[in-house]
Amino acid sequence: MKILVLNCGSSSLKYQLININDESVLAKGVVERIGIEDAFLEHQLTGEEIVIKAEIPDHNVAIEMVIDVLLKKEYAVLQSMDEINAVGHRVVHGGEKFASSTLITDEVIKQIEEVSDLAPLHNPHNLSGIKVCAELMPGTPQVAVFDTAFHQTMPRKAYMYALPYQYYQNYGIRRYGFHGTSHKYVAQRAAVMLGRPIDELKIITCHLGNGASIAAVKNGQSIDTSMGLTPLEGLVMGTRCGDIDPAIIPFLMDKEELTIQEIDNIINKQSGLYGVSGISNDSRDIDSAAGKGNEKAQTALEIFDYRVAKYIGAYMVAMGGVDAIVFTAGIGENQSSTRKVILEYLSFLNIELDQAANQVRKQEIDITTPDSKIKVLVIPTNEELMIARDTKEVIRR
Ligand code: AMP
Repeated sequence: MKILVLNCGSSSLKYQLININDESVLAKGVVERIGIEDAFLEHQLTGEEIVIKAEIPDHNVAIEMVIDVLLKKEYAVLQSMDEINAVGHRVVHGGEKFASSTLITDEVIKQIEEVSDLAPLHNPHNLSGIKVCAELMPGTPQVAVFDTAFHQTMPRKAYMYALPYQYYQNYGIRRYGFHGTSHKYVAQRAAVMLGRPIDELKIITCHLGNGASIAAVKNGQSIDTSMGLTPLEGLVMGTRCGDIDPAIIPFLMDKEELTIQEIDNIINKQSGLYGVSGISNDSRDIDSAAGKGNEKAQTALEIFDYRVAKYIGAYMVAMGGVDAIVFTAGIGENQSSTRKVILEYLSFLNIELDQAANQVRKQEIDITTPDSKIKVLVIPTNEELMIARDTKEVIRR
């Protein structure tokens, strides 16, 4: 069974064609700069990369290009479009309506539209991908896999904000959490690595990428997570501030005479590692500057690491302990120095880092010594595979 996985962003579209029978990736790629000059499609086959430059005015054209490239005789990925058995779409926000992945119907499209003002930068693009596929592949089942769904198991005390209750009732203002597909995937892999059933484990999953979030996964269910109504709350990120005193916003708006759009831009795009360091949103650049003695870069890393450690402590309390801590995503998987500093905060828990294991890259690994009661695992995330797995499950129901 072949499943096309699509992740439609505002100006990009990532895709993977997965043979779900053996979970192999048949082809993958990305269309960049949709609707902008110099657009291109970068298509990867095993060991080969093809770049096609073209005018790509919208997602319609982008998806047509993806299908064209998959059908190209010389690449021999697909003989016919009918070989695509289903399409799995990443949808960022499912609001309170979707606690699991779902078969896309007209009613589901309407419901995704209804929660779009909670994710105005994401859901409309996810929806255009869905609509284009419905036109191009009528009759091929499509499944929506929501970033928020995994966190719908959070108890009320974790998802409610202490704001006047009517804002929850009128606007759905509450914690939703994001990166759910990634947190779910790595928590499941952690249980496999530990050789224990997930429903008896307490796992803290740290998704540390350009966007970063952390989740408390108790007995296989998310019971708390750091991102909130939007993906801004919680950890320090590439350009997002994470937790701040909300009073800073009116204070700064007043002092700097800022509009809502301007302050929104500051906290989402000018803050985080980039804002503090003034160098870059990429932790590699900051790490290198910090190593050369740049104080702002050092400060940016210190806040980042401290915030992660603080959340781990909080989630241990939320779950009454922890069996495993998982690191994933760009920074979590690759930046051994970040993991080391975070684990130093936790040394009072007798977590002992295996220095050699901490240097291993691109594979699932336990980075603690055998006598560490709490295990620390590095697990490369695979959201596309998780979307394909969910898609297969939904269409088999
Ligand atoms: P992600 O959002 O998961 O793709 O993570 C991207 C971030 O991971 C980048 O902005 C970098 O800060 C960080 N990173 C650190 N080391 C690496 C690496 N070796 N490869 C890729 N990303 C890295």
